[in-house]
Amino acid sequence: MNIHEYQAKEILRGFGVPIPPGDVATTPAEAEQIARRIGRTVVVKAQVHAGGRGKAGGVKLAKTPEEARDVASKILGMQIKGLTVQKVLVTDAAEIAAEAYVGIILDRASKKPVFMVSPAGGIDIEEVAAKTPEKIMRLPIDTRYGLMPFQAMELGFFLYPEAAKARAAAKIMKQLYDAFMANGASLAEINPLVVTPNGEVIALDAKMSIDDNELDRLPKIAALRDESAEEPSEVQARNANLTFIKLDGNVGCVVNGAGLAMATMDLVKYYGGEPANFLDIGGSSNPEKVVNALKIITADPSVKAILFNIFGGITRTDDVANGIVTATKQNPLKVPIVIRLTGTNEEIAVKILTENGFSAMTDMDDAVQRAVQLATGGKAA
Ligand code: GDP
Ligand code: MN
Repeated sequence: MNIHEYQAKEILRGFGVPIPPGDVATTPAEAEQIARRIGRTVVVKAQVHAGGRGKAGGVKLAKTPEEARDVASKILGMQIKGLTVQKVLVTDAAEIAAEAYVGIILDRASKKPVFMVSPAGGIDIEEVAAKTPEKIMRLPIDTRYGLMPFQAMELGFFLYPEAAKARAAAKIMKQLYDAFMANGASLAEINPLVVTPNGEVIALDAKMSIDDNELDRLPKIAALRDESAEEPSEVQARNANLTFIKLDGNVGCVVNGAGLAMATMDLVKYYGGEPANFLDIGGSSNPEKVVNALKIITADPSVKAILFNIFGGITRTDDVANGIVTATKQNPLKVPIVIRLTGTNEEIAVKILTENGFSAMTDMDDAVQRAVQLATGGKAA
């Protein structure tokens, strides 16, 4: 789960990270009031789950409350990377002498939280990693010990040669690490961490992603979810108890089990296609789940063919077949569908499908190739 900058800043403030004061607004009038309360130059910042807001015009300085209102009216409603801005953060503007990057990600390879810090901050860290990798220091943390003071100092000195600034940065590293660990984060990032002209080290941006599996034990964090800022199809899927991730391709996939879903996506790519989504209808699928899955997939205009790949174990293939029939009666399909199913109650499923004008395949390779052909108009191998 992603949270907004203003929410991440609230969490980090709680751990002591120095962050300029600010508040969130949903209307230009509110933005003006906040700016008046701050009483100095402010920054008005789009709150969307995307980076690069600065470049997209979603971060703007305002010298007066009136200007804050004008700027907010331009940013609210703006589209950034396909997301509509519904909130802005109005915050005390800082003067910047230098911008650094500080982040922690959960690294699957080392199975550890890894610090990544760079004195070349403010811009995309991916760009720094690609062009000047020597400007990034990576440090895996053994969670049995946590971040040791000497490690925090090493990170601090990598950013700033002066001891006072390195010490201030080291303190922030520890606070960021504690916030990361306490909130089930998979990512916590400050970009930019800045030095002001009078030598203070403060955080001007914050980003946190929370591991969905942690949300049950962290109700306060779970309550930070902003569904209006999320991909609508993903919200719909979550509420229907489906595991769904939207992707960029055109083969809509409906599969039972995460492993089979991954294998299906691999095979789609292998045969020259691109999956439009990851969708796992789960083990004990009932017809209703299939109806919901088809609703979500057919609502995506980039889907050119639908592929069902069902391996019946606990999942009964006749349940899936009934779901397909019900869903397509409610909403007739506009794109071709390829159905592969095998396993529990296969004979019944095939009977249901054929009686309703569908054909069913049993071989996974054949079905995936067919779906890719249909989606690409026969162009793929
Ligand atoms: P992002 O582009 O989505 O990562 O948004 P940021 O919050 O990182 O803002 C982008 C850039 O705007 C920063 O790298 C800064 O250069 C600038 N910026 C953000 N906050 C302030 C501020 O308080 N004062 C000044 N002068 N610039 C700021
Ligand atoms: Mn940033």
